[in-house]
Amino acid sequence: ALYGAARPNSTGCDLADEATLRTLSEALHASRATPVAAQALLADGRTASGTPRSVSNPGQHDDIVGHVRQAGAADAAHALALAQRAAASWAATPAPERAARLRRAADALQADLPAFVALLMREVGKTAANGVAEVREAIDFLRFYAAQITDPRWPANAKPLGPVVCISPWNFPLAIFTGQIAAALAAGNPVLAKPAEQTPLVAARMTTLLHAAGIPRDVLQLLPGEGETVGAALVADARTAGVLFTGSTEVAKHLQRTLATRVHAGADGRATPIPLVAETGGQNAMVVDSSALAEQVVQDVLTSAFDSAGQRCSALRVLCLQDDIADHVLYMLRGAMAELRIGPATRLSTDVGPVIDAAARDAIVAHIEAMRARGCRVWQAPLPPQAERGTYVAPTLIELDGLTLPEREVFGPVLHVVRWRRGELDALVAAIHATGYGLTFGVHSRIDETIDHLTQRVQAGNHYVNRNMVGAVVGVQPFGGEGLSGTGPKAGGPLLLYRLLADPPADAVQ
Ligand code: GLU
Repeated sequence: ALYGAARPNSTGCDLADEATLRTLSEALHASRATPVAAQALLADGRTASGTPRSVSNPGQHDDIVGHVRQAGAADAAHALALAQRAAASWAATPAPERAARLRRAADALQADLPAFVALLMREVGKTAANGVAEVREAIDFLRFYAAQITDPRWPANAKPLGPVVCISPWNFPLAIFTGQIAAALAAGNPVLAKPAEQTPLVAARMTTLLHAAGIPRDVLQLLPGEGETVGAALVADARTAGVLFTGSTEVAKHLQRTLATRVHAGADGRATPIPLVAETGGQNAMVVDSSALAEQVVQDVLTSAFDSAGQRCSALRVLCLQDDIADHVLYMLRGAMAELRIGPATRLSTDVGPVIDAAARDAIVAHIEAMRARGCRVWQAPLPPQAERGTYVAPTLIELDGLTLPEREVFGPVLHVVRWRRGELDALVAAIHATGYGLTFGVHSRIDETIDHLTQRVQAGNHYVNRNMVGAVVGVQPFGGEGLSGTGPKAGGPLLLYRLLADPPADAVQ
């Protein structure tokens, strides 16, 4: 109801349309002609002192996208002082006025879609389809949280937390960056945004867009920099009243420990614990039984495991095939994987782009080699010769022995396969739970009892039945995990904003 027919999700653009493709090509051309310069965007215009470093396209290293001058710990402290001063006036800005500015930003982003897609293709190696989906998601977050605070059920005298730190990941450098900021701003909090080290440029461009849409410069400040320095300084500072984080489980645990050692003194002097909303990794499984439609399974596995080169926390990591159809599905899957077009995202027909950087590639390749050395059967799609110009990993299948799932998440285009036999369904559920994660889960079956049995038992934030398991839609499929996968409340769902208030209504947060 919050986000019904009156406010439909963004429609993005049609990539089958030639005029659209021409517009994207032109946007890429324009992007190449104007390198982006990113730096801290502090309310008083103070610039960070760091030396500029270049940001290159992971799909083609000689393509320099722009430069970033990183902020440091002193900039974080300075920004927090400015944010604290801005907190009262933003909290006093009526919710409909805050919402109007978020909606203005959504409209501006929709109008600027081709330029943002071009930047996403070059800075992170997103394919055209993934870039468009990401811009749509960012627009949806802005409109969704704006809708929530203008709904009659939103508490009229809601009291915000105070300065909120938003630490976002490189794999959704626009959508998650914008979603965190939009939520914190909608709830009435000033924001300190710390984008991932790898993706400062799209963050800087989006921050500038939000300022132009009417978000005051002291209410939203940008601090591009290292997690260990600027991120740590923001989280350790006594003025920080809340933290939104998406990234690794290890960092989330570290943040939790840091925040647990202190309380925040609110505007009225009342000491409150500092909320952490963390969304982390997964060891996501899809269970396929012998009644499943193999052609559909292959299509959905390709999307779930290899879209975005597997760099989504929602991505499929372990495909669990019933033994009597396993060989048939794997034969078709290998055929389909061999057809994937791998290369730079700037070639608009690319299906699978690069991984984010050399460190990521080396870690993924080390995992594949370790599994091979352990005797697992490994199959890889062929990489084209131009892959040497960027950081690519071939889409890979690794067949495991037995029902044990790998312990660690491998953040790339690597799909593990296990075979299970009739009667082993509950053992499979136990193996999925043994990882400790609970983010996404998929099932492919034409037997209702099997679907019900699994979806009632598997503890995961998002369940997908007879479809792919990535690309949760804001307002329709709130996204977030259980166990080691995150704290909730889910992004794009109705509860998150209440966690960002100092005095949530008692019945709103459960
Ligand atoms: N929400 C995204 C999806 O459903 C994943 C977010 C992430 O990778 O952090 O695909």
